[in-house]
Amino acid sequence: MGNSFDGCCMCGAIQYTSTSEPVATVVCHCRDCQKHTGSAFATALFFLKDQVNISGDLKSFEKETDAGNSMTRTFCGKCGSHITEFSTGYPEHVVVHAGTLNDPTKVSPDSQCWTPGTLHWTNDIHKLKGYEKDPEF
Ligand SMILES: [Zn+2]
Ligand SMILES: [Zn+2]
Repeated sequence: MGNSFDGCCMCGAIQYTSTSEPVATVVCHCRDCQKHTGSAFATALFFLKDQVNISGDLKSFEKETDAGNSMTRTFCGKCGSHITEFSTGYPEHVVVHAGTLNDPTKVSPDSQCWTPGTLHWTNDIHKLKGYEKDPEF
């Protein structure tokens, strides 16, 4: 229970659970992850495939990566949340994005990749003016 990694999409149609810890938690700055997440980077939890159970109707999109692998990314067909990635470069693993965990504070990244693509402002994000709720301007 307490040691499982559970998550779901924004609308709840897709649910997943893993009974084991991720083997790695990697921040990825590649352009595809920026496009896929619509954000500055993806936070990818690598689990062994047979240790993750996913339920719900996933849509998928396949594309070759800059490293030359074939990457299948899945997302909820209802709300569009990004759920998993399968890469031919990591045939034993499935990637889940940290933001979809029911408790995203459970993990901390241990490395980052495609670092030349890092958006310059992310290194100083803690210096930005902060609002506790919606921004005002
Ligand atoms: Zn959904
Ligand atoms: Zn990436």
